Amino acid sequence: MPGKTRSRMYETADFIDNVPNLPPHREKTGTQVDRRTFLKSTALASLAAVCSGGMLPDGIAYASPVPGEDERFVAEAWFYEKLPYKKIRCKLCPKQCVIDDRERGYCGTRENRDGTYYTLVHSRPCTYHADPIEKKPLFHFLPGTLAFSISTAGCNVNCKFCQNWQISQVRPEQVRSIHMPPKVVVSLTKKARCTSIAYTYGEPVVFYEYMAETAAVGREMGLKSVVITGGYINEEPVRKLCRHVDAIKVDLKAFSEKYYREVVSGELQPVLDGLVTIRKEGMWTEIVYLVVPTLNDSDGEFTKLCRWIKSDLGVDVPVHFTRFHPDYLLRNLPRTPIQTLERAKAIADSEGLHYVYLGNVPGHSAENTFCPRCKRVVVQRTGFISKAVHIVDGKCRYCEQEIAGVWN
Ligand code: SF4
Repeated sequence: MPGKTRSRMYETADFIDNVPNLPPHREKTGTQVDRRTFLKSTALASLAAVCSGGMLPDGIAYASPVPGEDERFVAEAWFYEKLPYKKIRCKLCPKQCVIDDRERGYCGTRENRDGTYYTLVHSRPCTYHADPIEKKPLFHFLPGTLAFSISTAGCNVNCKFCQNWQISQVRPEQVRSIHMPPKVVVSLTKKARCTSIAYTYGEPVVFYEYMAETAAVGREMGLKSVVITGGYINEEPVRKLCRHVDAIKVDLKAFSEKYYREVVSGELQPVLDGLVTIRKEGMWTEIVYLVVPTLNDSDGEFTKLCRWIKSDLGVDVPVHFTRFHPDYLLRNLPRTPIQTLERAKAIADSEGLHYVYLGNVPGHSAENTFCPRCKRVVVQRTGFISKAVHIVDGKCRYCEQEIAGVWN
């Protein structure tokens, strides 16, 4: 168990008031700010100007910064090894950060204190929202249901196209967060009539312990858990995660190490290895490939990607080719032409993948699921809405071909 670190000098109760019908265990203790914290908060003012009061495109409110630290959010990390001189090596993701005492890893959410490693984001979401499961996107997982979606600050990569960079590329104390322990997440999920809890928006690998514990509590209460991730995680943690969750959607950002190095600040091979592990664990998996003009949109790369999926994961893994729009550090590129996405789909179809979709193109026929045998529409969608599902007991209603996925 973690020791007490610093006294809590700031209270998040006013933000918690925005959560509807919180359970009665919430405490309100008022606000108390010392001089040091006040100065720190002033230094954060410019970031606050960006983050506070704004809305993500899908209506999620940005949090404001909470200066200071709060021991309610601190818990010992699960995957690390102790090294001489109070150093530690984090073993959660392939970055394998080696961290001195009183320092943090690359993701900024984990800290070495006296040779013990702690997560600083347990029960500390900075955003939450009830979304259609189709928005994750998970097209073959309980269509028409809602997922209660949460995220903390922080990420273990730095994608130049990130659409949620205001929360993914900051440290936890730079955004205002609320205290939402696993039981509260479960209670809110039920209250919002969601079928599942989604760990999303930012990168859930960096709040692994919180995610795994919440998923375990959720399962006891009959809720599913779905993970929306870049898949940049080591083998042991991903294997253990598969015991607690029900589906994992992986953003496979390109099929070249160069792109991962230059655009993502990560590596391709560990993501591919992770996908293979996830499939071997029997987890429902879908892949999103964000097509960025001129950077990962060649026929050769699409072909290599599809051949690898076919040989190493199987033709039943759905692939979503998604439209890029300029954001964060890639504002100089245009939106992806729809013809490019259609070219990617044509290649995937010709390589024999069964379920290939176009994302961020509302109204396109490639939002629908077609039966791989009789070619009729078995799930009709518009945007994030599944309008009609013609699947009975996991099979096409017209020809009884099995349709891969979790339907009931
Ligand atoms: S999870 Fe964070 S601290 Fe751990 S190796 Fe990855 S980037 Fe480094």
